[in-house]
Amino acid sequence: MHKHLTCECGHVIHADSDEEMVRQAQEHMRTVHRKSMTRDDVLKMAKEAKH
Ligand SMILES: [Zn+2]
Ligand SMILES: [Zn+2]
Repeated sequence: MHKHLTCECGHVIHADSDEEMVRQAQEHMRTVHRKSMTRDDVLKMAKEAKH
């Protein structure tokens, strides 16, 4: 299952599992925006993608 999460800045995060999505999204938010995001927030924003 592949998922995408489009950040408010337009950056698209691609991940093949929830674990990877949470890890990458949290890393992006921390390093780029200096914000934290909970696992629930990440998974709520992530959408299934076809490729
Ligand atoms: Zn961003
Ligand atoms: Zn993708």
